[in-house]
Amino acid sequence: MTDVYRRPAKLEPWQDPKELPYVQIEGVSKKFGDFAAVDDVSLSIYRGEFFALLGGSGCGKTTLLRLLAGFEQPSAGRIMIDGLDVAGIPPYDRPVNMMFQSYALFPHMTVAQNIAFGLHQDRLPRETIRERVAEVLELVQLARHGHRRPHQLSGGQRQRVALARSLVKRPKLLLLDEPLAALDKKLREQTQFELVNIQEQVGVTFIIVTHDQEEAMTMASRIAVMDHGYIVQTGTPSEIYEFPSSRFVAEFIGSVNIFDGLIVESAPDHAMITSEDAGCDLFIGQGVSAAAGTPVGVAVRPEKMQLSKVVPDQGDADQDLNPPSVTNRAHGVVVEIAYVGTHSLYVVRLDSGKPIRVLAPNLTRTTEMPITWDDHVHVAWGPTAGVVLTQ
Ligand code: ATP
Repeated sequence: MTDVYRRPAKLEPWQDPKELPYVQIEGVSKKFGDFAAVDDVSLSIYRGEFFALLGGSGCGKTTLLRLLAGFEQPSAGRIMIDGLDVAGIPPYDRPVNMMFQSYALFPHMTVAQNIAFGLHQDRLPRETIRERVAEVLELVQLARHGHRRPHQLSGGQRQRVALARSLVKRPKLLLLDEPLAALDKKLREQTQFELVNIQEQVGVTFIIVTHDQEEAMTMASRIAVMDHGYIVQTGTPSEIYEFPSSRFVAEFIGSVNIFDGLIVESAPDHAMITSEDAGCDLFIGQGVSAAAGTPVGVAVRPEKMQLSKVVPDQGDADQDLNPPSVTNRAHGVVVEIAYVGTHSLYVVRLDSGKPIRVLAPNLTRTTEMPITWDDHVHVAWGPTAGVVLTQ
């Protein structure tokens, strides 16, 4: 899982009660006939954020972006941009630019002419246009390619021309619909960093739509996860990854093992969950917001589990001070191994029959793997590794 650390802002604006949102979406719905593509969505996005709308196909993310751009009108609710209700304001009068999935570059124009097009339409003076185009070409590192036509560029370069064309009009808010979808995996990863760097340089508020959770995790300051027109969780990449609020989010973001169980003890500082799925009782080293008797899922990420052939030290679950690093352990047999370079992924069939995934770093270069197929193994994880899910 890529979780790149963004340069920390002085204070995350969404945590500052004095900060006013730049974009405020209040109870917005969009219906097509009887079908709600966007359903009662409320969101606050702050100036300078790189905000990602993340969700599977058809969850309503593009519709929400089109509502912001003014290409669709809400069936209910209100959208404020920079304190102004934008209802009735046409797309070209909003301080917003939208970069589409298909970059829609004019094939017969050079890169520089493509970028200058919107400025000519706005009838800016020639000299201003020349300066602005040169400035953005420099920004996207295409200063030497201004005379080329789009077909003479690579996919990544075309993507940067489209970005330059969106930025040259100096929008306050840039909406990007799957901007990297046309790029292959390697180029996409490289371009993710470029996009973040450019956004930090220009300071424009970016709202990006993507179905790719790694992409959202890598680039965004915050992510809103969408499902069936609703926002199911909003948070920083690490909040969403470490503290998913539901099974849907836990499973959508990264890989996860979920053990079904029942709370048998719910104290302010810990909880105990009995789970046939895990084949052992699960100790959670913090209080949970559900009472004894509640059925729950316990989500544990594969990289938070350790594998060993010998019985790991169990520690003492009742020890309040200095909690042990290992309090949960299950037993099973290795049924699959995938070597993925930096890590190996093990599928272990627990004694309960449940298959789980465990990710172990490949710390040493070795041709002989210490744990292999059909080995009997212990899987251990600490008291803070599991997240209790009640929905
Ligand atoms: P994708 O990643 O596949 O583009 P999305 O999350 O961006 O998906 P939207 O394009 O917002 O999804 O569409 C959400 C839902 O609304 C879909 O079920 C879609 O079929 C429906 N929808 C979108 N536009 C219209 C329209 N103009 N008329 C009728 N239904 C529409």
